[in-house]
Amino acid sequence: MKKQLIAGNWKMNGSLQSNAALVAALAAGAGSAQCLVAVCVPAPYLAQVQLLVAGTRIDLGAQDVSQHESGAFTGEMSAGMLREFATRYCLVGHSERRQYHGETDALVATKAQRALAAGITPIVCVGETLAERDAGRTEEVVKRQLAAVIHTNGHCISEIVVAYEPVWAIGTGKTASPEEAQQVHAVLRAQLQAATAHADRVHILYGGSMNAANAAQLLSQPDIDGGLVGGASLKPADFLSIIAAAR
Ligand code: PEP
Repeated sequence: MKKQLIAGNWKMNGSLQSNAALVAALAAGAGSAQCLVAVCVPAPYLAQVQLLVAGTRIDLGAQDVSQHESGAFTGEMSAGMLREFATRYCLVGHSERRQYHGETDALVATKAQRALAAGITPIVCVGETLAERDAGRTEEVVKRQLAAVIHTNGHCISEIVVAYEPVWAIGTGKTASPEEAQQVHAVLRAQLQAATAHADRVHILYGGSMNAANAAQLLSQPDIDGGLVGGASLKPADFLSIIAAAR
């Protein structure tokens, strides 16, 4: 059975000083972790955190990548640049990027492709809004979002990580129940199975107000292979409790 993956998303938080303290606490506490651990940090801190996590159980992740390979795209970061800092993972299509930066399914799929081509595992985020859930459209929405990534990435699809993050649960303190989350994860797994013989290799993470109190139950569901953790990943004790709940 594959190890679960617990990935922290620091979002636009941190400083040189606070990052050093956070990673030191995580490295000290995560030494005996059963699961894989990663932190997705703001781009300016990749070089710093690359050094901080070297020799620890923690892998480095970025929060976004350009759809372009190189050139006149001011402000963008290419996958090749991220790779130079030993970036192992990169979030793509986080709901905050879809919502505030107008990222479409097709753009997210291309970003995943760029990451894969550079040897970085894209963590592809999918999830429905509250209005979509209330309208009974959850499955349709997440399947559409994942279908674009499958379409663009073909047989490489077994190399991605998927994060199911109901938008209404992100940063709100509201969490999908373990049963609700499992239901969507099973749908995503079936979609991957239709696309690749290696669907069981794909980590499908749950994200959305995962915390020390609810992690164990969520992580015990058969198709939940880990967590994408925002707010709680900035608090060492909370993030370490989530890591301890993972297998
Ligand atoms: C996220 O940003 O991916 C996330 C899941 O945030 P939070 O845990 O704070 O809901």
